[in-house]
Amino acid sequence: MECIFCRIIAGEVPADIVYQDSELLAFRDIHPQAPTHILIMPKGHIASLTELTRKEQALMGRLILLAKELAEKEGVAAKGYRLSVSCGADGGQLVPHVHFHLLGGRKLDDQLG
Ligand code: AMP
Ligand code: ZN
Repeated sequence: MECIFCRIIAGEVPADIVYQDSELLAFRDIHPQAPTHILIMPKGHIASLTELTRKEQALMGRLILLAKELAEKEGVAAKGYRLSVSCGADGGQLVPHVHFHLLGGRKLDDQLG
C-alpha cells in the first residue's frame, strides 16, 4: 500500500487520531500550521476532489458536519476556523487521498494561497 493516509487508516503508521468511525477518520497534522490542525478524510481511498461522485454525496456531508463538531470540541468554533481542501498539483495537494484541513486557534492569513 503506497498511500500514507491508507496506511494510517490500516493502523500501519501511527497518528494522533481524534475521531474515527466506519467511514471517516480524523487525525492531527504532523506539521501543524495552527494550534488546531486536523486532517479529516473518508477511510476509503479517493485520490482527490476530482474523483468524487454522487455516491459520496452523503459521506462528504457527514465529513463537513464532523469538521464542525471537531471545531467545537477543539474550542475554536466561537472565534472561527478554516476548512480547506487542496486538489491536484496547482492546488498544492501533496497526499493523493482526499482530506480536509481543519485549521483554527490563530488568526489565519487573508490569502488562501
Ligand atoms: P495536502 O495534500 O497539501 O493537503 O497536505 C497534506 C498534509 O498531510 C500536510 O499538511 C502534511 O503535513 C500532512 N501529513 C503528511 N504525512 C502525515 C502523517 N504521516 N501524519 C500526519 N499528517 C501528515
Ligand atoms: Zn489512500
